[in-house]
Amino acid sequence: MFFVIKKRMLIITGVVLISVMVSLAVTASAMAFSPTPAVVVVLDAGHGGKDGGTSGVNSGVSEAEINLILVKKIEGLLKAQNIGVILTRKDENSLYTESVTKKHRDMEARKKIILDTCPTLVVSIHCNKFPDSSRRGAQVFYEPLSEKGKTLALSIQNNLNTINNDYVGRAFTILKGDYYILHCSAYPSAIVECGFLSNSEDDALLNKPDYQDKLAYRIFCGILGYLSTVE
Ligand SMILES: [Zn+2]
Repeated sequence: MFFVIKKRMLIITGVVLISVMVSLAVTASAMAFSPTPAVVVVLDAGHGGKDGGTSGVNSGVSEAEINLILVKKIEGLLKAQNIGVILTRKDENSLYTESVTKKHRDMEARKKIILDTCPTLVVSIHCNKFPDSSRRGAQVFYEPLSEKGKTLALSIQNNLNTINNDYVGRAFTILKGDYYILHCSAYPSAIVECGFLSNSEDDALLNKPDYQDKLAYRIFCGILGYLSTVE
C-alpha cells in the first residue's frame, strides 16, 4: 500500500515537475521571441484638464473628451496590428494641471513625450470650430517643411474623404498649419480636425460611437497607408 502510494506520488510529482518545466520553457521562449514593435506611433489627444478646447454647439460636449475617445479607438486598432502606441495623455487631465495659463507647459510636456519616444510618426486629434456654423467635415493639417508629414496628412485625408463624401457631400484637401505639435519635433506629424463642433450635424455625429468608430478606422487606415510608403 505504502509502496503504491509512494509510487503514485512519485509519478504525480514527476508529471507536475515536467509541466512546470515545459511551461517555464514556453514562457522563456515567448519572452525571447516576443516581437518589439518596429513602428511606434504617438497619438496626441488635444487639450485636457481645464483646457477642454471647443465644445459642442448643441451637446455641450468638450472637445477634449471626444479627442480622447477617438485616440483610444485608434490606439486599439494600431495595437491589434502590433504597432506600438504612446499616448500623450491617457485620461481627462491635462499634462499640466495648475491652470489654463500653463498651457505652454502642457505643450512642452507633449513635446517631451514625442522626443523621448522617437516615434515613426505623430498624429494629434482635435475637433474644429468656426464662426460660420455651416462649416463641416474632417480635415488634416501638416507642417509645410516636412515632406513626410505632408505624405502622412495626405494619406489620412484621403481615407477621411470617404466619410466626408458620405456625410458632407465632398472631399477636402490637406492644409498647411502653423501648429506647435507639428513643428515641435522632426518626426512626421499631422493634426486631424475630426469635424466641427460648431456645426449641429457634426456635433451630433461626433458624439455617436459608430461615427467615432468610422473616424478612428479611417485615421488608422491613413496611418497604415503612410507606413506602407516608408517601409
Ligand atoms: Zn483643439
